[in-house]
Amino acid sequence: MSIVLEARGLTKEFKGFVAVNDVDLKVEKGTIHALIGPNGAGKTTFFNLLTKFLQPTRGTIHYEGRDITRLPPAQIARLGMVRSFQISAVFPDLTVLQNVRVALQRKRGESFDFWRSEKSLTRFDDAARERIEEVGLSEFVHHRAAELSYGRKRALEIAATLALEPEMLLLDEPMAGMAQEDIERISALIKRVAKNRTILMVEHNLSVVANLSDRITVLARGEVLAEGDYDEVSKSPEVIEAYIGA
Ligand code: ADP
Repeated sequence: MSIVLEARGLTKEFKGFVAVNDVDLKVEKGTIHALIGPNGAGKTTFFNLLTKFLQPTRGTIHYEGRDITRLPPAQIARLGMVRSFQISAVFPDLTVLQNVRVALQRKRGESFDFWRSEKSLTRFDDAARERIEEVGLSEFVHHRAAELSYGRKRALEIAATLALEPEMLLLDEPMAGMAQEDIERISALIKRVAKNRTILMVEHNLSVVANLSDRITVLARGEVLAEGDYDEVSKSPEVIEAYIGA
């Protein structure tokens, strides 16, 4: 078993209120790991700690064995751990192809200069089309992002994130606000993307979690309440109690 991401004793206090309390988490390489829990459990705070949008009060985070507790998000992205939607990726007036090209240009650390350098961006076309195919948007390459359905926009965001060549993706409620048809499409996409990557996601939709996750960590009141596969955690009396009591 190879651990790609590990939190030890992660704690976040907001003016004396402990939102995340001494949480340990290990994410195994190549798995889809879900973080669930009732409202106010501390999921968002914990996720923001892992992705460095918040600094922990105490505790450490290791990625691929390296202490990343004090590194900024951009540097962690370069190490291979990327939060999807981190790059607020989708420009509505650009086409699908143009959007992914821009993401590839950013990956190269080049400054954002779309309007003046469209010609020079065409060198990213092959790589962009590969990412677009991976998320199932090939027939929409020349559509403006604004014309895409909500679910396809989400797929485009994932394509732009994949342009950063992550080994680990952190997804914050990938199914939020989606119709069933889009949920199925994005679930299939996440499974495909996970074939050679690790995924950690916060997700409210429990049937999605059941369908996708290899492992689930349940948070409640800022602490780990249970961990295991879906069958294990869904049978836990503490978990049932936490959801009913929430
Ligand atoms: P979840 O995502 O599981 O619903 P959150 O992480 O959003 O939970 O919140 C956990 C607890 O921390 C809540 O009680 C919330 O009010 C509190 N909290 C979150 N962010 C802040 C903040 N910036 N300042 C004070 N309290 C916060």
